[in-house]
Amino acid sequence: MNRILFEPDEIDDAGVARVRDARAAHIVNVLHGTVGLTLKTGEVNGLLGTGEITAIASDGEVAVQVRHTDAPLAPWVDLILAPPRPRVMKRLLPQLATLGVGRLILVGAQKVEKDFWGATLLKEAIYRPLLIDGLMQGAVASRVPEILVRRNFRTFVQDELDALAGASARRIVAHPYADGGARAAEPPRGDGADGPLVLAVGPEGGWTEAEVALLEAKGFVRRSLGPRILRTDTATVALLARLVPAD
Ligand code: SAH
Repeated sequence: MNRILFEPDEIDDAGVARVRDARAAHIVNVLHGTVGLTLKTGEVNGLLGTGEITAIASDGEVAVQVRHTDAPLAPWVDLILAPPRPRVMKRLLPQLATLGVGRLILVGAQKVEKDFWGATLLKEAIYRPLLIDGLMQGAVASRVPEILVRRNFRTFVQDELDALAGASARRIVAHPYADGGARAAEPPRGDGADGPLVLAVGPEGGWTEAEVALLEAKGFVRRSLGPRILRTDTATVALLARLVPAD
């Protein structure tokens, strides 16, 4: 946690936030917080700033007087993801928030394992804390990524994608192969700096050629990270880290 984020309803009218969960333990045990220490803080989906510890109660509750005046960094990419197994997805979610994903659209590509869709991970009460953990790690953003579930891949791409992403957004599909089986071109470093971007990453079994063709018909270009086939989660993190604007 490189910045402690508080929910709006955890901050009272006097600007004092009170927590007694993992954040409180982190403030005390990792940051060695004592009364008077100033921390980097912020409000979930709101402004960032600093907070001064005003009290640490014997029951573990930590009170922080916050002053939040700074705009957070905005998300820069929407990710279309054919989800990996829930256990892998759970590891991936915080990292997506850290890396600046605005919207995560989970799509039912052909080779997604069917039992994924029943996963408890798809409940907001389960995934939201993971995303907020990722924002606290990154320290510069506060907006919780939005998760959309679209099991019908074709309908989503044909009928909804343009309106959702904005017709002008640049589009990249992560795929190791170019048309005809040669290697696809690499994405330029920091390419996400040139306006909104949509990235599509396939399932463990890969995109089908029909799925790639559907995306290409919607203006996606194939980009590869080289001949080594990465796991979905590794590929996603590697691509985002490569495309992320450097500012
Ligand atoms: N057997 C599958 C491998 C899929 S790996 C196949 O042959 O396509 C899962 C997903 O991660 C892929 O669909 C792709 O989106 C992404 N990925 C993995 N390695 C990649 C690489 N070297 N370049 C670009 N994307 C990659």
